Amino acid sequence: MEILLTNDDGIFAPGLWRLARELKQIARVVVVAPDREQSGLGTAVTLRQPLRVQKVRPLVPEVEAYSVEGTPADSVILALGKLLENQIDLVISGINSGPNLGDDVLISGTVGAALQGYLRGFPTLAISIASIDNLYLDSAARLATLLAKKIGTSSLPSDIFLNINLPSLPLEKIKGVRVTKLASKSHIDTVEEGHDGRKAYYWLVRQKTNKDANKKTDIWAIEEGNISITPLHTELLSKPSPLIPDSLCSDLLQELRATENLGI
Ligand code: MN
Repeated sequence: MEILLTNDDGIFAPGLWRLARELKQIARVVVVAPDREQSGLGTAVTLRQPLRVQKVRPLVPEVEAYSVEGTPADSVILALGKLLENQIDLVISGINSGPNLGDDVLISGTVGAALQGYLRGFPTLAISIASIDNLYLDSAARLATLLAKKIGTSSLPSDIFLNINLPSLPLEKIKGVRVTKLASKSHIDTVEEGHDGRKAYYWLVRQKTNKDANKKTDIWAIEEGNISITPLHTELLSKPSPLIPDSLCSDLLQELRATENLGI
């Protein structure tokens, strides 16, 4: 088995290498990851400048590793499109430091990288621990490896990829594994202002809103002390939206033409 491993915390993040060490026991592992911290870049790709790649000395022996001067998504596109000649069986993004839950997955570089594996038809996992400290990396690495083994033999349905989050708990305190859906309206961006003595500066702060009281969501599962496994897909791209009123679009072209001579 051959696994492409990436992340958005940067190529020297401990979560990535803890996972590489575990995966190496069952597969050949190739790491292709951003050369620096790239969290929150979502699905961003670099189109207006060249991508530089460097082969780097791995932190785990016998793992091939490349650092990319680009985004998490760039790393996967480059890996699957150019760097890896052998057949890849699985793409894994993580282990991320911090949760990737609810609509936060839309800005997640961890999920953004995984998306590229999925879009190219590879079985793909994104894995995160819902905390930025007290990371129980060992359990997360072993969980990802177990799933990799299972997927290697039975495969995943090709129309989904998996977003996995673990609570920040020792293994004996984890209650169970829940297959969940994304919590909706789960986060809001707020702006905090500070002053450095000369100028104002601003921090964007992503806060949980807890608006989705629905059980079975990923946030609910994590708050209850469970591992959350959410199947993700891109069906939003193929579903027509029934909610746009006819009046918005029906005469639009005529109205647009009517504006032509009015100079507005
Ligand atoms: Mn991250």
